Amino acid sequence: MANPFTVFAAELLRRPGTQKQIALSAPLADLDVHDPSRFAPDAEADVQLLLESLTDGIVVDGTVGVAWHGTCRRCLADTGGVSVSEVHDLYQRVLTDPDAFELDGDQLDLRPVVRELVLLDTPSTPLCRPDCAGLCPTCGANLNDGPCGCDAPPADPRWSALDVLRGDDSPERG
Ligand SMILES: [Zn+2]
Ligand SMILES: [Zn+2]
Repeated sequence: MANPFTVFAAELLRRPGTQKQIALSAPLADLDVHDPSRFAPDAEADVQLLLESLTDGIVVDGTVGVAWHGTCRRCLADTGGVSVSEVHDLYQRVLTDPDAFELDGDQLDLRPVVRELVLLDTPSTPLCRPDCAGLCPTCGANLNDGPCGCDAPPADPRWSALDVLRGDDSPERG
């Protein structure tokens, strides 16, 4: 089966200004991504890329989106979302731009880039929300549901020590 991420770069480069669109839903298995802790077995990456040839390279712009799931690292609730990665890459046969990727041969295979974005931009230790309050360290209650009742912090031994000192310095003299 032809790799849908492969573009015939030579043809694009022959005519600068040529555009080519890649719009596809790629099963993660096709990207060699196998991570049941983050992705459903039938998850697909939504790939929307626009390629445009310059005189000395090919610009790739677009997005890669993928649905993920996980466990909140603070409150342990199930969480998930869709991560969308932006793509702004330049491929060149002769590298003149320090940020460019090397274009090796006539084919441009975007699969490795898409795979990397799926793996790197999807949280592996997510939060259910940015301000997740987490669990009470004392009773284990989910503080997102409200205060648990043990919001008075446990007595700090340093304060007890101060109490003793205060007692020693008491101005009462028999
Ligand atoms: Zn949480
Ligand atoms: Zn508590």
